[in-house]
Amino acid sequence: MLDYVSDKLQDETRQGEAFSPFANDLNQYKKRFYIESYGCAMNFSDSEIVASILNKEGYGATSNIEEADLIFINTCSIREKAEQTVRKRLSEFKKFKKEKKGLLVGVLGCMAERLKLKLLEEEKLVDIVVGPDAYRSLPELVVEAEGGQKAVNVLLSRDETYADISPVRIDSNGVSAFVSIMRGCNNMCSFCVVPFTRGRERSRDADSILNECKDLFEKGFKEVTLLGQNVDSYYYVPEYSKGDHVIPITFAQLLESVANISPELRVRFSTSHPKDITEEVLHTMARYENICKYIHLPVQSGSSRILQLMNRTYTREWYMAKVERIREIIPDCGISSDFIAGFCTETNDDHLETLSIMEFSRYDFSYMFFYSERPGTLAERRYKDDIPAEVKKKRLQEIVELQNRLSMESNKKDVGKTFKVLIEGDSKKNDKEWKGRNSQNKVIVFPKEEFELSKGDYVQVHVIDCTQATLFGNIIN
Ligand code: SAM
Ligand code: SF4
Repeated sequence: MLDYVSDKLQDETRQGEAFSPFANDLNQYKKRFYIESYGCAMNFSDSEIVASILNKEGYGATSNIEEADLIFINTCSIREKAEQTVRKRLSEFKKFKKEKKGLLVGVLGCMAERLKLKLLEEEKLVDIVVGPDAYRSLPELVVEAEGGQKAVNVLLSRDETYADISPVRIDSNGVSAFVSIMRGCNNMCSFCVVPFTRGRERSRDADSILNECKDLFEKGFKEVTLLGQNVDSYYYVPEYSKGDHVIPITFAQLLESVANISPELRVRFSTSHPKDITEEVLHTMARYENICKYIHLPVQSGSSRILQLMNRTYTREWYMAKVERIREIIPDCGISSDFIAGFCTETNDDHLETLSIMEFSRYDFSYMFFYSERPGTLAERRYKDDIPAEVKKKRLQEIVELQNRLSMESNKKDVGKTFKVLIEGDSKKNDKEWKGRNSQNKVIVFPKEEFELSKGDYVQVHVIDCTQATLFGNIIN
């Protein structure tokens, strides 16, 4: 049950999602590739870049693994469980390799970067290993592997942002898309493997971001989510301003430029590190109706002592002041968080501080995990993973139960209110109902009735009921 809970909250609905291209004539391609993605939104966005690179070289995407000549798995290393899931999936690929001579299997992403050549030794069926900064070399690596060699490129880069690559959209809802604005992370949170698997932080050319967002809007998309491990430290110095008069573009300015593309285009972003989100960003959010009133602001722990061991660089009080400031500047802002239960040396009092910061912040939603020691991280080198598994799970369970109550309370407060909702498609359970989201990122389900609406339309919905995960309402004429 706990595993389900903690996993569900890590994008469970998309884990293992296969690339599902728009209607493609597969006969026009010399070879077909299949790609499956795990982990964070960044990985899903990277798979779209990979698809674009392969497509240009004449490879067509298929969502049917049985007709693929190349199978790719885009992997996550954030917790041990994520790696186990990938290993299990790799073992399932054995049968396809047996059945189809010449079939190649490639491992992409964070696990490829973390394990490098070791992955080839441990997983004999793998032919290609490619880290997150080396996707441009994929076509050559495929040729190498076709010649019977194992092909590896795990070089990390200081400047690769794939700015010029226009991703092939995997998300076929045609309404919302991820746009990567930066790569890597310099933060060195002691529990985290990301700085090692994704390298140094670098920001993508602002013009290329704007052009991608404009292009998406022209193609009918109505919502973009600007993605990065730490979007608030976005900092780009355009070519024209280099030299004596450096005029950098900050995240707040980027956000404003994207919002100005059209009032009909909603803008979201993720993730914000509490230490970096600025007043300027908050005021920009408040000024633009189309910048969604929702901030994912991971706290990880409510104890200042644990936060220091985690190297998060803020205290409990500092974080709470930030939440208060958000509520002052954007009173209707939705806030969500990430938690790690049972980090090294965590006492029951530390854990109680986590529960109390949750009550204080009144999160609408959270991603909740128990601590999983990752090889090579600062925590693995410096501290003992000394909290027994049962204690970690018990504390996680308490965090989950409290979050369930807070989500329910937050949703109940919305009953009786009316929200502008962007329609994303049919509701999962009933094609006579629409599913959409409000600005605060809450899912709202409502009957289609006799209204002539389509996905991608905005509509006013009056909320009449809720569960902890969903609001239910009716269209206001
Ligand atoms: N950059 C984002 C931030 O700082 O908030 C988060 C990126 S990380 C991919 C997503 C979440 O995974 C983290 O916020 C943290 O809660 C969780 N996480 C990272 N390392 C972990 C570990 N070793 N054990 C358990 N959870 C972990
Ligand atoms: Fe990992 Fe911290 Fe960077 Fe987030 S900010 S990716 S948790 S090191």
